[in-house]
Amino acid sequence: MKAARVEAPHASVMILEVEDPVPGPGQVVIRVTASGVCGSDLHVVDGKLGRTKYPLTLGHEPAGIVHQIGEGVSRFRKGDRVLLYPTTGCGTCMFCIGGKENLCPAARSYGFEFDGTDAEFALVPSERYLYPLRRLSDAEAAPLACAGVTAYHAIKNHVVGLAAPGDSVVVVGAGGLGHLAVQMLRALSPAHVMVVDTREEKLELAKSLGAEDIMSPSEFGRLTDAARKSRVAAVIDTVGSDQTLSLGFDTLGTGGRLVVLGAAGGSLNYSGPDAKDRMVAGPILGSLTEMRETLELAEQGLVRVVHRDFPLEKVNEVLAMVRGGQVTGRAVLIP
Ligand SMILES: [Zn+2]
Ligand SMILES: [Zn+2]
Repeated sequence: MKAARVEAPHASVMILEVEDPVPGPGQVVIRVTASGVCGSDLHVVDGKLGRTKYPLTLGHEPAGIVHQIGEGVSRFRKGDRVLLYPTTGCGTCMFCIGGKENLCPAARSYGFEFDGTDAEFALVPSERYLYPLRRLSDAEAAPLACAGVTAYHAIKNHVVGLAAPGDSVVVVGAGGLGHLAVQMLRALSPAHVMVVDTREEKLELAKSLGAEDIMSPSEFGRLTDAARKSRVAAVIDTVGSDQTLSLGFDTLGTGGRLVVLGAAGGSLNYSGPDAKDRMVAGPILGSLTEMRETLELAEQGLVRVVHRDFPLEKVNEVLAMVRGGQVTGRAVLIP
């Protein structure tokens, strides 16, 4: 089969022929029909994560069709359309027992610790990690597997219940994560939704998806509390640079929460006296249940995934576009 391989850090991705996976007992092989491109794929290419096992196949945001099932697989059969949960756990720790594989200390992920999904086929270690698709197309579903469930987990756990009617929530960055976060906020929270981005076309997309105010970072930084007319209860930072972290934290009202989803590697300077009961949260992915809830939001049409599709062979061009912030919505590779 064809696969997008990273042979070593700092090398370009190569489309290589590798052996087709074969399912063992309890395992499933899916034919990948769509695989979203995430900002963290760049960390694998750039060699920024100590845990990456090279060489490997890139990608962790797939939808596909069940191709082969191993002995004992009972809930799925060949031909079923599915979305794949993007990480795997040890199966025995207190987190895994509760379906929170995202918090498992021994979690291993496609495209990081083992072969990913930017390939014609992917080996899934358990049917536990598959979700049937109904109405959504494969390319609409795929970005939910990382960007969607990450935004949903963050909003459900860190914003819902904190942001009251009359409060604002600010989304920093209107890309793959941000355009989904805006819609989830509108679906799940009464807060006024503001979006900050440097690119006009992304701001326009956010507005079309329900953002009530859109602005550039400098416009936003100049806003006084009085002009905001509401407490900023939460800032969802999908960028995570030095600049966005400090902009976000400085903007928070009393008791507000900075929810960091972006992994740009920034750090936040903090000094105690003016703490105002503010908090910083670092959510990671989402649980198995939250994956199902995320999918349900999209299946019901409450969240629309905006995607641009590219053939798998364009993986290097697409990664360059993601690096340059040039993708509106999510880029999806079609193997
Ligand atoms: Zn991701
Ligand atoms: Zn575990």
